[in-house]
Amino acid sequence: VLQVIDLCKSFHKLEVLKNISVTFKKNEVVSIIGPSGGGKSTFLRCLNLLEKPTSGQILIDGVDICAKGQSKHIDQHRQKMGMVFQQFNLFNNMNVMKNLTAGPVRIKGMDRAEAEEKALELLGRVGLADRADAYPSQLSGGQKQRIAIVRSLMMDPEVMLFDEPTSALDPEMIGEVLDVMKNLAESGMTMIVVTHEMRFAREVSSRTIFLDGGHIEEDKPSHELFAHPESPRLISFLNKVL
Ligand code: ATP
Ligand code: MG
Repeated sequence: VLQVIDLCKSFHKLEVLKNISVTFKKNEVVSIIGPSGGGKSTFLRCLNLLEKPTSGQILIDGVDICAKGQSKHIDQHRQKMGMVFQQFNLFNNMNVMKNLTAGPVRIKGMDRAEAEEKALELLGRVGLADRADAYPSQLSGGQKQRIAIVRSLMMDPEVMLFDEPTSALDPEMIGEVLDVMKNLAESGMTMIVVTHEMRFAREVSSRTIFLDGGHIEEDKPSHELFAHPESPRLISFLNKVL
């Protein structure tokens, strides 16, 4: 459903992504792991065009979203991808319900009542049905991140991108966010997850990619990658983090 071909990204002289080619299938849950500075965030940001790739192709259902002439459809392409960041990026001046419904109402033209109904249903799914009136400042980090996930889901994305969604959280809140992500994975959502949570990578995602120095060093079924890492760099990385 999402195919990346020879993706390169440089910032001035710094080559951050070097000829990345990879395909993500529908319903697949893929983790991306690797050392700091390896290009994980840049890769995700290229996927939803928050960064403009220097060269290469990103095909969604066969359409190259980097091609000339596609820039007028950029919002349409972005809507297909939900993104959840380390920092929750909620609107602090709006309550939870407004945070959730503003996008669908304004961008998708969804009926407000319909949007609110959908928001309540999704809030129920992440265990926060009673917090619709709360403001972000009244929520814990774990609650905020669950709301941020719901906010992305409100737009009915085809793919969900996560960039270290638990690394800004206190340890006791990590589990509740990972549980929501696990449920989402089990519901069949296509997910690409940059994570430092090796248990999530191993147990929830079917496939894990080790991104190091701007290229894919290893890409395998998760159980295999963790049980039998091949590349010396991956072995040394796993020794450090496990
Ligand atoms: P981390 O695990 O620390 O989040 P990462 O794998 O996500 O690391 P990136 O954030 O993608 O790594 O950064 C890769 C490299 O690109 C780094 O050397 C970083 O300094 C550089 N870089 C990222 N964004 C920019 C930018 N906007 N301008 C210049 N250099 C950048
Ligand atoms: Mg990063």
